[in-house]
Amino acid sequence: MRVLLVEDDDGVGDALAEALAARGHLPTRVRRGADALTRHHEADLVLLDLGLPDTDGLEVLRMLRKVADVPVLVLTARGDERSVVRGLRLGADDYVVKPVRLAELLARMDTITQRAAVRSSLTALTHVVQVSDVEIDMAARRVRAGGDEISLTTKEFELLAVLARRLGTAVSRQQLMDEVWGDAYLAISRSLDVHMTQLRGKLKRPGLLTTIRGFGYRLGE
Ligand code: CA
Repeated sequence: MRVLLVEDDDGVGDALAEALAARGHLPTRVRRGADALTRHHEADLVLLDLGLPDTDGLEVLRMLRKVADVPVLVLTARGDERSVVRGLRLGADDYVVKPVRLAELLARMDTITQRAAVRSSLTALTHVVQVSDVEIDMAARRVRAGGDEISLTTKEFELLAVLARRLGTAVSRQQLMDEVWGDAYLAISRSLDVHMTQLRGKLKRPGLLTTIRGFGYRLGE
């Protein structure tokens, strides 16, 4: 599996990357918390150290969980109960205290990615999302409203698809930016608004896309 290894200690990082590669995994090593927030898309699993040079790992986890449900295994020297509980509550799938036993780490990685695979295969079963008289075909990337095909740009379709996957649920601006532009914390908020306005104009269903002030958007009646 593709593993994003967020670890600033070269000794630990190199040894771990080498051990993972030797077991057939594809590790990518980064040193900063900020890298975890921009590169998690490339990974099936994130191994997250907590003592990082730029942002504390728990803060990285909190920000990551606002936008992504990629499996995260915290791997840290911090073994006090308070940190473990905080890590799990913030959405870590597992928490392992260093020094790590490699066989145990590999077993835990397998367990959490298997659970994630079951979750995502359930989501993938829904190919066409229907809301009011609008049909969104996720696989074919086509949208019909009242039976008429609507021509959307790539970004407009992706925005709609992110909202459609969470039909009836408020989706944050960060989550939309993360999934469509690949960076939740980039200064492109204006671009999101512009694309959303275009999308609304094309759908011509004003009640269907609701702005949640100060948070984001929701698709649904
Ligand atoms: Ca560290």
